[in-house]
Amino acid sequence: MVNCIDFFAMKKISWRKSRRLYKKAQGIIPGGVNSPVRAFKAVGGNPLFVERAKGSKIYDVDGNAYVDYVLSWGPMILGHAHPRVVSALKKAIEKGTSYGAPTSLEVELAELVLKAYPSMDKVRMVNSGTEATMSAIRVARGFTGRDKIIKFEGCYHGHADGLLVKAGSGATTFGVPDSPGVPKSYAKNTITLPFNNAKALKEVIEKEWKSIACVILEPVVGNIGCVLPKAGFLSALRKLTRKYGIVLIFDEVMTGFRVSYGGAQEFYGIKPDMTCLGKVIGGGLPVGAYGGKKEIMSMVAPEGPVYQAGTLSGNPLAMTAGIETIKVLSRKGVYDRLEQKASELEAALKDAAKTAKAVTRFYRAGTMFCTYFTDRDVVDYASAKTSDTSKFAKFFIGMLKRGINLAPSQFEAGFISLAHSTRDIEKTARAAYETFKEI
Ligand SMILES: *Cc1c(COP(=O)(O)O)cnc(C)c1O
Repeated sequence: MVNCIDFFAMKKISWRKSRRLYKKAQGIIPGGVNSPVRAFKAVGGNPLFVERAKGSKIYDVDGNAYVDYVLSWGPMILGHAHPRVVSALKKAIEKGTSYGAPTSLEVELAELVLKAYPSMDKVRMVNSGTEATMSAIRVARGFTGRDKIIKFEGCYHGHADGLLVKAGSGATTFGVPDSPGVPKSYAKNTITLPFNNAKALKEVIEKEWKSIACVILEPVVGNIGCVLPKAGFLSALRKLTRKYGIVLIFDEVMTGFRVSYGGAQEFYGIKPDMTCLGKVIGGGLPVGAYGGKKEIMSMVAPEGPVYQAGTLSGNPLAMTAGIETIKVLSRKGVYDRLEQKASELEAALKDAAKTAKAVTRFYRAGTMFCTYFTDRDVVDYASAKTSDTSKFAKFFIGMLKRGINLAPSQFEAGFISLAHSTRDIEKTARAAYETFKEI
């Protein structure tokens, strides 16, 4: 490993145009951004304004290039602007951008999704992960006739009211896991429990099952970094929910087509009653989906009485990007290649930390990962919060200056794509070693 900082490269970097744009944006968009974590608040400094992206690289408006491990927060598993997705989109756009009527594309994407997720008999397309979880919970409530839901501390399921209780992602980053504006009367129907604690779950379910409609979780918690389920936790969850007629919802918006083709449910061998998807299935366009068993999904209007709708749902461009992305992912050997890249990166980052004598914990599930600055094992929200966020902030800035783009918060997962090369990974390892040393 090279033990010298590339001062030339570091001096060259300028963020002048980004700074100017950010200043302007702050006057006319709340916080200057359209989603909170983008603002770099947790790490100090100004967000980069992006001009374009291709493959594993993202380019800012000042002309700097970065190896990108944010990947639009997960969707770009093929890398940015994949030729097959781009050319299909070009063709699709000529045919019009929205019809508000059924298309064969929706049927095709639904078929691809159901084939990959045999726990689902039917699936409904929506426009975001938030919509997917919100709708799935409504359906679970309609199906069971019960009001309460159980979620886990640090799990983020989008920003619907009842789900912004002890939520991860930006909510954790900014210390507002319980957002103002959520009526107490909503929040009181949300029971929050520590992740990986089957005992606490059992106690609550045995006491209150008559009022509990569903348990929703991220099977791998990507919104406080990357927290893996302990052996036995998911199966305990499955057993308990089945016993008491509670709908088990896997929020696989992040993990779907990410930790494996069939998501965390395939990876861990657990069949939920309902599944939420998003991110990867839109191939970079706004898509979410929720689905599940036939008897549950037949509750959804117009087949059943539970209402859920969307002007742009099943949008032809979004469906096209999703179809092309999944088709590439379904090719033989793709997930072996993804696993190889991810394990290469894991080894390189662990080695960099060890050589630089940095105290860190690294976790990975498929192509999502996180480095925490702690000596504790990270198994839940409380242990994730032991990570030294000021060290993370320095790490983030040091990496950015060396041309590596990580998520600007400790409590977010990193992602690697099919487009990342061994050279990208080597560059990342070198930058990590230097940055670990520096802090
Ligand atoms: C990103 C995410 C969501 C929200 O999706 P949006 O498209 O941002 O609304 C929900 N659940 C999980 C697990 C996510 O990672």
